[in-house]
Amino acid sequence: MNATIATAKEIQKMDPVFGQISFDDHEQIVFCNDKDTGLKAIIGIHNSVMGPALGGTRMFNYSNEWEALNDVLRLSRGMTFKSAITGLNIGGGKAVIIGDAKTQKTPELMRKFGEFVHSLSGRYITAEDVGMETADMDLVRDVTPYVTGISEERGGAGNPSPVTAFGVYMGMKAAAKQQFGSDVLTGKKVLVQGIGHVGEALVEYLTKEGALVTISDINEERLYEVGKKYNATVYSGNDVYAEEVDIYAPCAMGATINDATIHKIKAKVIAGAANNQLANEVVHGAILQERGILYAPDFLINAGGIINVYAELAHYGKAEIMAKTENIYNTTLEIFDFAIANKMTTHQAALTIAQQRIAERKLANSK
Ligand code: NAD
Repeated sequence: MNATIATAKEIQKMDPVFGQISFDDHEQIVFCNDKDTGLKAIIGIHNSVMGPALGGTRMFNYSNEWEALNDVLRLSRGMTFKSAITGLNIGGGKAVIIGDAKTQKTPELMRKFGEFVHSLSGRYITAEDVGMETADMDLVRDVTPYVTGISEERGGAGNPSPVTAFGVYMGMKAAAKQQFGSDVLTGKKVLVQGIGHVGEALVEYLTKEGALVTISDINEERLYEVGKKYNATVYSGNDVYAEEVDIYAPCAMGATINDATIHKIKAKVIAGAANNQLANEVVHGAILQERGILYAPDFLINAGGIINVYAELAHYGKAEIMAKTENIYNTTLEIFDFAIANKMTTHQAALTIAQQRIAERKLANSK
């Protein structure tokens, strides 16, 4: 290489994977392309110390490939820690398919994606995430056994989203207990941002308990439909983050807690389903702590879905799925205690315990 100083853009081109900002010693990144079906996917295997990498596939209309790569790097890393903190014997992985799930997803594309998953011989096991349905996983199952989240008719544990919502609800109750002295959510003002598969099921739990729920979504049709169904208030202002609520539940996309939003948030608890809620987990975790906002770590409280799909591999039934998910309540309280005892943010606390477990397993594996 000559001595010319490279621009930031050129450097980005030089180190497209290992030099990426979200690269965190991922074990394997697989780029999948199929001209005939239009499939463009990236599979990320972050860490397989605890077992084969399990994690969902997201189909999203990314504005560019960097964004897709960054997402798969962040999401697969999150899966490693989610499974470790939940006590599951699996590693962390994730996949992204670049494209609009509403218009570009076809059975042929899903099966071709399944063939790519199969080519990894079980190092990566897929499931659904944003833009995916149980029916899509059934199509993947046509070509590979390395898929979970398939329909109950085909021997799967079914749609994981309601279980995820139950886990988030448990985590939210634990956070309320810690922050307000009681886990009763009756009368608490809760903002649910994103009322998709998980968000709607969460709204159901919350309204049943008598929480005062406000919902927001970019899909207006859904917003009014869900608002009517649960008698929830539809958010109509122009800055959702500044809303006067007790609890903010991010259930749409990640990184909603960022430099632009963090100082506006009035909620005293943040507990939601979205993955990677903190744009910068160190910086934004610390600001939340300084501001006295209790953050229930996303990868801890949204583990219901992975508990549900893991049941297909570990062969346990619905009762155990729900019991393990209910236990998110206890784990969340333990993490809050650990954070206080060790003077760290709640996110760091959850990460530290997950990392300790992985390190112990690595040592045990090497003996
Ligand atoms: P979904 O696609 O069914 O729902 C997402 C909803 O968010 C949609 O209604 C969409 O219109 C809305 N949305 C998108 N951008 C928005 C914005 N800027 N403001 C408001 N609303 C917006 O997805 P889901 O399965 O419900 O998952 C929600 C989140 O939870 C995702 O981040 C996902 O990764 C995470 N998660 C899901 C599961 C699961 O079991 N489905 C498990 C763990 C984590």
